[in-house]
Amino acid sequence: MSVDQYAQLYDQFKDIMTLNEPMADHTTWRIGGPADVFARPQTIDQLQELIIAAKREQVPFYLIGKGSNLLISDEGIRGIVIQLNGQFERMTFNDDQLLVYAAKGMVAAAYNAMAHGLSGLEFATGIPGSIGGAVAMNAGAHGREIRDVLTYADLLTRDGERIRLSKEELGFSYRHSLIKENGWIVLSASFRLEPGDAQAMQETAKSWARRRSATQPLSLPSCGSVFRNPQGDFAARLIEAAGLKGKRIGMAQISEKHANFIVNLGDAKASEVAALIQLVRETIAEREGILLYPEVKMMGDFEYGGGADGQIDRARGTSS
Ligand SMILES: Cc1cc2nc3c(=O)[nH]c(=O)nc-3n(C[C@H](O)[C@H](O)[C@H](O)COP(=O)(O)OP(=O)(O)OC[C@H]3O[C@@H](n4cnc5c(N)ncnc54)[C@H](O)[C@@H]3O)c2cc1C
Repeated sequence: MSVDQYAQLYDQFKDIMTLNEPMADHTTWRIGGPADVFARPQTIDQLQELIIAAKREQVPFYLIGKGSNLLISDEGIRGIVIQLNGQFERMTFNDDQLLVYAAKGMVAAAYNAMAHGLSGLEFATGIPGSIGGAVAMNAGAHGREIRDVLTYADLLTRDGERIRLSKEELGFSYRHSLIKENGWIVLSASFRLEPGDAQAMQETAKSWARRRSATQPLSLPSCGSVFRNPQGDFAARLIEAAGLKGKRIGMAQISEKHANFIVNLGDAKASEVAALIQLVRETIAEREGILLYPEVKMMGDFEYGGGADGQIDRARGTSS
């Protein structure tokens, strides 16, 4: 698509849009080519108007949160990349219910709840995504997941219709939800928490943080765990056993510290990360007869599709 094809949209939304925005500035991997259009709606009304206009102009759109689980191709994204902003950063407490809008950081929301003496989100104090991304991904750690505390989410469908779905209706499974499957947009999420001792929760969060920094390469750009754990095993264990720890392609490297992390040593390309993903999958399939599926979402065009479960959905631009 040429920039001219966005002229109508740009006229209508120029206050919240930039053109040719480097996506490397919006992912924790620090990787990704330019998005033709990058839009940061501030309100639900503005978001609704934007996606209705995008449909009218037949321009594809893609949602990102904090980019902490995304591999965006070196060629970037043709269409609009939407990142919620402004009013989407709010959060409010009502007794033991916490309502958080989608752009709020998961870490900030979890610490805020703890400071209010509310327990349930401590597991998420090390997950550097947004609430929207965490709910869509059913993010989890330390044996807990978003679905354990969520009561309902307010969503926008691809047609711009607002719906509220309960946890049961959201079809959560391991790092998956119907939100991802249908490309719905999370506007806000409501959590039921329990009274807890603020100091004890802080201690728990601190000990988990210590463990993470001892076992994960947190000083280098990454997207956390690259592969989902296969049933009854750990992707990191399989990758390490295959002797792939430290394997490097260009400036992308399978971390020496944690085999399920791929780190960016400098100016790594998305194609180099994708080649490492491919190498890991082929090696583990050959050695163990196990097919590993990426947890990370691939956005844009890649030669490699990520395999059955991680296939790139070109119509929507993300792997499912
Ligand atoms: C150092 C590190 C440690 C990590 N540790 C963990 C961990 O312990 N557990 C874990 O589960 N994950 C972990 N992650 C991965 C990541 O933080 C989570 O998957 C997070 O939930 C992604 O949120 P995000 O806002 O960054 O989403 P993005 O990466 O921006 O997007 C991920 C997916 O969510 C979708 N999405 C984003 N916002 C919305 C929205 N508002 N509505 C609908 N869909 C949306 C995107 O379209 C995309 O498909 C880690 C990542 C890093 C870098």
